[in-house]
Amino acid sequence: MGKVWFVGAGPGDAELITVKGMNLLAQAGAILYAGSLVSEAVLKWASKDCEVADSKGMTLEQINDWLLTKAQKYPTVIRLQTGDPSLYGALVEMARPLLDQNIEIAVVPGVSSAMASAAAAQETLTLPEVTQTVILTRVEGRTPMPAGESIEELAKHRCTCCIFLSVTLTAKITAAFIQAGWDEFSPVTVVKRASWPDEYILQTNLKDLGEDIKKHEIKAQAMIIISPTLGAKNWDSLTKSKLYDKDFGHKFRKAE
Ligand code: SAH
Repeated sequence: MGKVWFVGAGPGDAELITVKGMNLLAQAGAILYAGSLVSEAVLKWASKDCEVADSKGMTLEQINDWLLTKAQKYPTVIRLQTGDPSLYGALVEMARPLLDQNIEIAVVPGVSSAMASAAAAQETLTLPEVTQTVILTRVEGRTPMPAGESIEELAKHRCTCCIFLSVTLTAKITAAFIQAGWDEFSPVTVVKRASWPDEYILQTNLKDLGEDIKKHEIKAQAMIIISPTLGAKNWDSLTKSKLYDKDFGHKFRKAE
């Protein structure tokens, strides 16, 4: 019996997979990738004689069957997931049937699109005395949100929100944040296809979010970042991180 690895492919750029993920792709006998989101560029790390299939048109049962069958044939089988496998990736649903059959699994983390989007826009998600908290979430559409996690409730925290899977639900986002007390001109950064060759960064505000998304035809694969830190690299004054403050000592450096 082989082992099935759930590997985070990263956000798109083939070089944003981990070294561990890249090495596993090179030794895999079979790879099932999520073609709707994983960049085919990442497959360049696979060996030439490896069996590669796209799960785009498959149901969960078909995915489970595929992984099970290949695990009986090859020592290393990979389920290649977009970003990090622990976020919106149906990891548990895919892992359980394998565990039920006593097939060993392992998960290799990946660069989430939340991180890749912040990097693309050159934004920090935390800033001393501004916010020290990041919420990774989505807006209720066809998938219901558990109690206490509506976007209205989350917006009240006034921290950074990275909103996945919600580019068609911007009216709800705007209404929720304004209702929670955010100024209607609060900045919003939307990153479409972070790290892909056609990456696009839209700088807008809560009020214009929906209209600007429509104008730029952003329909999928986009991250919405709403944060009191946005634009900090251009601010006049900044409370600097204590980590590098000359008066603040820590384990690796004495205070002056
Ligand atoms: N596991 C993935 C998320 C999968 S859900 C991760 O960690 O990134 C799919 C959603 O992720 C998309 O709707 C979009 O909001 C976001 N996404 C995926 N790839 C992206 C990219 N390259 N740029 C911006 N957002 C992306």
